[in-house]
Amino acid sequence: MADTTLMSIPGQVDPVPVARDITPREDGRVDLIGLPKDRIRELFAEAGLDAKQAKLRAKQVFHWLYHRGVTDFAAMTDIAKTMRPWLAERFYIGRPDIVEAQHSTDGTRKWLLRTSDGHEFEMVFIPDADRGTLCVSSQVGCTLNCRFCHTGTMRLVRNLTPGEIVGQVLLARDALGEWPKGKMDFADEESETEYRADGRLLTNIVMMGMGEPLYNFDNVRDALKLVMDGEGLALSKRRITLSTSGVVPMMDKCGKEIGVNLAVSLHAVTKDVRDEIVPLNKKYGIEELLQACSDYHGASNARRITFEYVMLKDKNDSDEDAHELVRLIKQYKLPAKVNLIPFNPWPGAPYECSTPERVKRFSSIVFEHGISAPVRTPRGRDIDAACGQLKTAAEKKSRAQRDREAAEATEAAAS
Ligand code: SAH
Ligand code: SF4
Repeated sequence: MADTTLMSIPGQVDPVPVARDITPREDGRVDLIGLPKDRIRELFAEAGLDAKQAKLRAKQVFHWLYHRGVTDFAAMTDIAKTMRPWLAERFYIGRPDIVEAQHSTDGTRKWLLRTSDGHEFEMVFIPDADRGTLCVSSQVGCTLNCRFCHTGTMRLVRNLTPGEIVGQVLLARDALGEWPKGKMDFADEESETEYRADGRLLTNIVMMGMGEPLYNFDNVRDALKLVMDGEGLALSKRRITLSTSGVVPMMDKCGKEIGVNLAVSLHAVTKDVRDEIVPLNKKYGIEELLQACSDYHGASNARRITFEYVMLKDKNDSDEDAHELVRLIKQYKLPAKVNLIPFNPWPGAPYECSTPERVKRFSSIVFEHGISAPVRTPRGRDIDAACGQLKTAAEKKSRAQRDREAAEATEAAAS
């Protein structure tokens, strides 16, 4: 027999697994959560409905999934009784599994969630007097290894799917008991008004959980489109913020295709310091990043870009740093505000938080130059829900491995 080990395989070999919009389930049913309405229509047609029926049913089902939060086809009362079991045999309405739910003394809630293939990730809900913010994860782990971030000590396990991302919002609504009750008629204008009335707990979404959302762009975009869809969850793009550590080549696309508010994890104003604490800076430097901010579609004085700045003792917190931050923001004429985040320590972290006096002084310098620079109060510290503390029990990486992965990620980004 011929020795085939050196034979090249004919045709193109793509080492990257092809993304599938449908994650196969063991029972053969298709999970509808995360699919756009048109895709649901197609699936209904493939399952045997004629074009008109498929379109109507897709519209109805979509409304039940995202406006009413229903998880059982039997509850879809405007769909013929005989049709409901037909749907239930073929389709499924999923949610991430809840492994653990914690409640902080300050009202913050954290959920440890699990994907159907057994990966754990977290989501946090932060109630305030005038709003309720859900902090949503985009990946299990992160490739980027920012040195002050606990998530960065985990391996990247995988990207979350659109269904797992929008699933977090649905689950939060379930847990907060926030789906509209009352009459379940389709397109019922009256209940629509009730639903939008005041007193809603979950009003804002920030893509600031685990992971780098711009390294999972397509899934994050598809999920946020569902969150913004007027016939579903209907959250305004003004109430959604995507936070990036500075994936410059994706920022323009983000502005154009998603259009939500942008937060940028700047954290330092000199190359040396930013290279150290946000290693992605070695690939996309501060100037390039600020230029991308200046070009960001949709940023204006009414919708300013948020610069996140973690306060690290003796690292990035001097008066000179504050002045340089102001200078940079002015040089690029950015409609910006600065969020100062006191560093949340975690076991083995290589930094300490700046003193409260330092944070205050830094904030006043920026503020005196006409740029708002509030200090973010850490929330949910007692349950490790604060910024950058999200990390599941997943395997911890060694420092050497993290450095290697950071170098690889930078290289991959370059190609
Ligand atoms: N990957 C994205 C979004 C997730 S991190 C990003 O980096 O922007 C959300 C925010 O928490 C970022 O600004 C991040 O820098 C910050 N953060 C991470 N670890 C932190 C820590 N230990 N203390 C305070 N903020 C932290
Ligand atoms: Fe990843 Fe953001 Fe943490 Fe950096 S700060 S390691 S980009 S999650």
